[in-house]
Amino acid sequence: MAKSFGLEINPWVYVAKYDEEKRWQESYVEKEHLTPEQEERLSPIERAELMAKRNSFPELPLVNYTSQYGLGCFEGLKGFPQKDGSIKIFRPDENGLRMARSMEGLLMPPYPPELFMDAAREVVKRNKSLGFTPVYDPAWEKDDFLSAYSVYIRPFSFTEPGIGVNLSENPWVIMITTKVGSYFEPGTSKAITTERIRATAGGTGWIKTASNYVISALAKKEAGKQGYMETVFLDARERKYIEEGSSCNLFFVLKDNTLVTPALQDTILPGITRKSILQIARDEGLKAEERSISIEEVFSEAKEFFACGTAAGVSFMSSITHHGKEAVFGDGTMGEFTALALKTLKGIQYGAIEDHRNWMVDVG
Ligand code: PMP
Repeated sequence: MAKSFGLEINPWVYVAKYDEEKRWQESYVEKEHLTPEQEERLSPIERAELMAKRNSFPELPLVNYTSQYGLGCFEGLKGFPQKDGSIKIFRPDENGLRMARSMEGLLMPPYPPELFMDAAREVVKRNKSLGFTPVYDPAWEKDDFLSAYSVYIRPFSFTEPGIGVNLSENPWVIMITTKVGSYFEPGTSKAITTERIRATAGGTGWIKTASNYVISALAKKEAGKQGYMETVFLDARERKYIEEGSSCNLFFVLKDNTLVTPALQDTILPGITRKSILQIARDEGLKAEERSISIEEVFSEAKEFFACGTAAGVSFMSSITHHGKEAVFGDGTMGEFTALALKTLKGIQYGAIEDHRNWMVDVG
């Protein structure tokens, strides 16, 4: 993983403001920095001070609907270093569309997907030219890119000043980038269901909005304290059907080799990794179903279980515990389809497998 000095934002940051004339005013801000090598040599304190400056935007209001009421959307996508020295972003068009839908869902002016795409590419490109993005390392090929680094791109909205509960008419959209390694440590991981409810019908579960993540963080923390890697949310109404993880979608492979993931509805975030895995499975000729799957069915029929998302990648889950009973999948090692999905996705992202679906976008 990247060094543990806290959040390390790359120097170039993108800032757009939806002004009173209903136009997106875009700018790129070069925050204080040294060369990457000089920054490596800083003491922990000096480094923390520099990073605090990079994470400070005095032009943005402290008190607003995002900081007070969680009225904010965000995205998470990654750029992957390639063998030829370029960086390619995985499906930024999809993240741009989801960001616009999220903002519409919060009755904000949507940020145009075309601007999203150009800004994501440009902000990565500018940081790359300063030497702040990871460089392809052939050693990553040895573990099928499990140890590889990438650039994490975090676009998010931030509202105008305000203290009474309200919606936003003139938000900012900001994009920061940072270097990341793998999210889950490789190895086995156990999951546990939670009694907490992440999303309800008619709520904001389908929106990538800040306010959804408090419940997720609580449940994940509680799971972690009990020795589990991930938490699994069940549906709010019947407390019976699988919904999703703390910030990832969930997949099961049944004993008859059918791949199943919960169908999209307003309580589930439409993950781009989820969509890509369904396509990979269908292209491989596998039966892939999007439907309700109960915890009972998981206990009796599932032979593989994995979580997926931009940060999680494809993370094999060795077991799930529900009401004190544990269902163990396979022999405790990664199942066949999970391994295929992981290898295919990482292979496409790092350029080891041909990208015939045109998912990867060069930052130029
Ligand atoms: N569900 C939730 C709640 C998430 O936060 C994420 C991460 N964005 C996902 C699923 C997976 O989505 P994606 O594959 O687009 O990263």
